[in-house]
Amino acid sequence: MSNSYKIITYGCQMNVHESEKIAGMLENEGFTPTEDTDNADVVVLNTCCVRESAETRVLGNLGILKKAKERKPDMKIIVCGCMTQADGAAEKLKKRCPFINAILGTHNLYKLPELLHDKAKKTRVEITQEHGINENIPIVRTSGINAWVNIMYGCNNFCSYCIVPYVRGRERSREKNNIISDVKRLIADGYKQITLLGQNVNSYGNDLQEKNENFPSLLRDLSGLEGKFRIKFMTSHPKDIKTETVDAIKESDKLSHFVHMPAQSGSDRILHLMNRKYTAAEYMAKIDMLKNKLSDVGLSGDIMVGFPTETEEDFADTLKLVSSTEYNNLYTFIYSRRSGTPAASMDGQVPITDKKRRIRELIETQFSIGNRLAEKCVGNTYETLCAEYKNGKIIGETNCGKAVTFAGDANLIGQFVNVRITENKNSKLYGAIKNE
Ligand code: SF4
Repeated sequence: MSNSYKIITYGCQMNVHESEKIAGMLENEGFTPTEDTDNADVVVLNTCCVRESAETRVLGNLGILKKAKERKPDMKIIVCGCMTQADGAAEKLKKRCPFINAILGTHNLYKLPELLHDKAKKTRVEITQEHGINENIPIVRTSGINAWVNIMYGCNNFCSYCIVPYVRGRERSREKNNIISDVKRLIADGYKQITLLGQNVNSYGNDLQEKNENFPSLLRDLSGLEGKFRIKFMTSHPKDIKTETVDAIKESDKLSHFVHMPAQSGSDRILHLMNRKYTAAEYMAKIDMLKNKLSDVGLSGDIMVGFPTETEEDFADTLKLVSSTEYNNLYTFIYSRRSGTPAASMDGQVPITDKKRRIRELIETQFSIGNRLAEKCVGNTYETLCAEYKNGKIIGETNCGKAVTFAGDANLIGQFVNVRITENKNSKLYGAIKNE
């Protein structure tokens, strides 16, 4: 196949959506997608440097691509994403992998089309620190009836373990009108679930001139749009989620009752070292507000174990917070040193054996909580969006973010149906469409 492309994506949902933009630019240039990486004309690695494991996988894949390029010398290999933007990373990568055609920083993605036609033999590096917003990048959406919309970029929080503010820059909110136009167009195109993306969506609008442009008002405006659709958002920094946001969710039938709010730790001492700017009690107060206002709220979060100096007592506080919160889903991570962040040079790095034991205990604790919560759903009926069809079954998502499997036809995809939960098997929900 000529003019084919393959994108390999690492990291979070923001990167998955960024890859949709990379695909948009490539298809605008006449390229078509392929799964055959070895024979692709262009391979783009959209990298992540938030965790060490993602970085290791990028380097592993580059080793494989080197061999593919020896067999197919005109293959273009382009590396972009967070990993390229970290201090000195692009130069190191260029030295280590001179067969890469281009390395693009997170603020230089729009240069991709130009690089496709670059005949230079040497690796071209395009890294700048300008933090702008490019509204004109085409998008090839790849998530069925789900669409992702960035509402802001960057982060101002500087959690001491996190590289994001250094590689993605400070917070930049998109103009509300542009977001609303995007969402209107997506609804007109038939998308049914739109997820608003930002590192901290609750600080949306803080950098805009217009005083009333904030996250709750954006949510209210979007939920006032015509049509049957659902809006979700992620991620919420616990210090910034406001009562007004939760009220906006409560008052609308278009806003999902699912909230992803990472706690990271349940120990005040560790939270302080992490520069998270809340205590465990303040986090729990936000959880209580969510549960009180939204009786059926679905919660998910992130917890990191093994942050420098974390003791058994600190970890016990984390387990306590996890048990009290009752997350439906929990993303668990082992702390890994990210060079350039304050935590990387902290004393008291925790031995890997302790980190592994703690994460096992955390996963076991969460499994029994998740299973107990899932069991409680049996007998309840939820408005469910039919999202995927596989072997005679539909996989749907309830209004509170729970996945449920039930019998149904492929033509139900994109429709909202009421599903009664009939069974829980190891935290997996099964149900049946309830006809009124
Ligand atoms: S809020 Fe903290 S963890 Fe999240 S992106 Fe910003 S600095 Fe990183």
